[in-house]
Amino acid sequence: MSLLPETLSLHKTTRKHYLSLTLGAESQVTYVWINEDKENLLSKTRTLQQEPAGIRDIPEWDTASNALNEQILVPVRMFRDPFTLDPNKLVLCEVLTDKYVPTGNSQRSPCVKVREEVKEFEPWFGMEQEYMLCGSDGKPYGQPAQGWKFRGVSCAVGSDNVYGRDISICHYRACLYAGVKIGGTNSETLGSQWEFQVGPCEGTELGDHLWMARYILHRVCEDFDAVASLDVKPADESSATSGCHINFSTKEMRSEGGLQYIEGAISRLSKHHSQHLSVYDPHGGADNKRRLTGQKTTSEFNKFSSAVGRRDVSVRIPGHVFRKGCGYFEDRRPAANCDPFSVIKALLETCLLGATE
Ligand code: ADP
Ligand code: MN
Ligand code: MN
Ligand code: MN
Ligand code: MN
Repeated sequence: MSLLPETLSLHKTTRKHYLSLTLGAESQVTYVWINEDKENLLSKTRTLQQEPAGIRDIPEWDTASNALNEQILVPVRMFRDPFTLDPNKLVLCEVLTDKYVPTGNSQRSPCVKVREEVKEFEPWFGMEQEYMLCGSDGKPYGQPAQGWKFRGVSCAVGSDNVYGRDISICHYRACLYAGVKIGGTNSETLGSQWEFQVGPCEGTELGDHLWMARYILHRVCEDFDAVASLDVKPADESSATSGCHINFSTKEMRSEGGLQYIEGAISRLSKHHSQHLSVYDPHGGADNKRRLTGQKTTSEFNKFSSAVGRRDVSVRIPGHVFRKGCGYFEDRRPAANCDPFSVIKALLETCLLGATE
């Protein structure tokens, strides 16, 4: 059952009072980690006796997951807590077994390892996270009961075209406060559908920032009695889909004459299409099979394609990059619910590993 809006706002007013109670030297630290399903996030909070100055001040902890054996939460990146404010923290953790082996809930560890091997390329990444806002009843957020609005264009404005802008605005500000490298936002084609961009970030850092941006989104949605769905096809009635395009460059691609290196990387990607699709969603490609139908601005699941300034392809060279002769390219295939580390790792391996041989 959804709460009435009046009840919700009374709760928020009441919460303000409790959050104004002053703390001593303590800091509330919320540990955030990726679930075994490689898709959902979990979190729990503990008190540290003083504000941690950095990641090394935050101790390991055990998960309270349903795994038979206890697992270890190893803090990897610290952010400010935009919900309970300074001196409180959000900390992204990697999940290790009791023998200190990564569980594979995300591909962070293997990704960091590959990144070390290709350090000299100075890779940068940026991702565009699309998501659909739903009410707690599962219906599109804020839309009239008589049916879905499907604008068919992104970046729409007006209260008869977009729903949930407050959530996008609050999420954006919360990410900036937290220290998440959010780059921008826009409304998407399905009325209650939105996008935010993270990056550009150096190397694997993007994965930490994107996962934390997703966590903050889910928490902001709690405040609006809404749910953010990262399903690749959030509305069966329409062909609209949610993806998580990744933008990629190396030092050479960003420098004068970089276009030839972009073309070289795309040529390598064309030879590993199915291998990439198998790690571009958490279900071995099953999600993208529903999404990449060649309709609207998607490409075909079974066929690699690339072009300058077109969006119905696997990989796009933005028009401005082509005109300038250097910059970055966009791989449009990753699904909205992908593990960014799996995607980054695949790109580094295909485009850069062995490229110096
Ligand atoms: P689109 O036109 O595909 O909707 P967006 O403006 O939504 O593009 O996103 C562009 C993305 O490209 C952002 O995530 C940004 O961080 C990223 N980006 C910009 N420059 C670079 C670069 N040199 N290397 C990698 N990523 C980049
Ligand atoms: Mn308990
Ligand atoms: Mn975009
Ligand atoms: Mn988009
Ligand atoms: Mn894009």
